[in-house]
Amino acid sequence: MDRRSFLKTSALGGTAAAASTLAAPVYAQGKRTLTMVQSWPRGFAVLDDAATYLQNMVAEMSDGALTIDKKAPGELVGALEVFDAVSSGQADMYHSADYYFIGQHPGYAYFTAVPFGGTAQEVTNWYYHGGGEQLHDKLGEIFNMKGLLAGNSGSQSGGWFRKEINSAADFNGLKFRMPGLGGKVLGKLGASVQNIPGGELYQALSSGALDGLEWVGPMADERAGFQEVAKVYYTAGFHEPGSALSANVNLDVWNELSAQHQAILRYASMATTHYQLAETLANNGAALARLQAQGVKTLQFSDDVWDAFGKASAEVMDENMGDDLFAEIRTSFEASLANSASWINKSDGYYVQQRVRVLGQ
Ligand code: CA
Repeated sequence: MDRRSFLKTSALGGTAAAASTLAAPVYAQGKRTLTMVQSWPRGFAVLDDAATYLQNMVAEMSDGALTIDKKAPGELVGALEVFDAVSSGQADMYHSADYYFIGQHPGYAYFTAVPFGGTAQEVTNWYYHGGGEQLHDKLGEIFNMKGLLAGNSGSQSGGWFRKEINSAADFNGLKFRMPGLGGKVLGKLGASVQNIPGGELYQALSSGALDGLEWVGPMADERAGFQEVAKVYYTAGFHEPGSALSANVNLDVWNELSAQHQAILRYASMATTHYQLAETLANNGAALARLQAQGVKTLQFSDDVWDAFGKASAEVMDENMGDDLFAEIRTSFEASLANSASWINKSDGYYVQQRVRVLGQ
């Protein structure tokens, strides 16, 4: 997709400009409440947890001067309409996963996860020390948004199926939910891929509208109840090895905030990433054991299936290289990943292998 045609055809620029001319004073008696639309229902494990941590941290760090008013899907806009709502100024900020918005720009995939991308640590390395945050902002300038990462749910599971996947051909014709560029990869394997919001997934799987889906990982998936309607669970997936969440802010709103409140949003977002990742990883193992106790069969895809994922992933990534900004983001990300991996694989990765060998865990 050409970036200029994007700007030309997008109605967002016009509405954003209109909104900024009508902007009300940012602070009333030194206080400001930001309306945050989010893609998760209230109480939704892992995802709404992250949005709530961010909300609480911002209020505490600012001593109540800056607060966030969370709006769940349907309260102001739909789950996948949050991007346009913030871009246009209808809402001040959103909490979501940016790869839902690859239709707006494919580069947004990198600010959640890309196929065969980085682990949570590697994504964070890139974002804060490899140019990722600056590229998030560069992308955000097109849509009048300041980028913030606020959450990471770690390595996501390969997904829920009714039948085992014994070869890549088993994806052919499968009605499967997977957002982002990962979904495009499964599309190359013949799957009928859909992006359905999290709050609607249980119904879609139980009604047969979907044959399978990926959501997050054991802790979130157990709470969503997928084990009640599917019994085959692949624990590792190629599509989201370290899945970040975002809290992007309308750029006019951001620019009107005090430097202190901008810093609070940025640091609270960082802390949310760290805290939520720890929560998820601390709980996934026990959740997986409970799923297995409920009759869920846990499997890994075969090497042949992984090879098919890899081939199709490379094709999908290459198909987007006609967009200059996508290419810039991909180049930056892959350089950082290579740098991170060149140490992590020889240290953490090797150490964990040895610990499993010596201690069994
Ligand atoms: Ca997912």
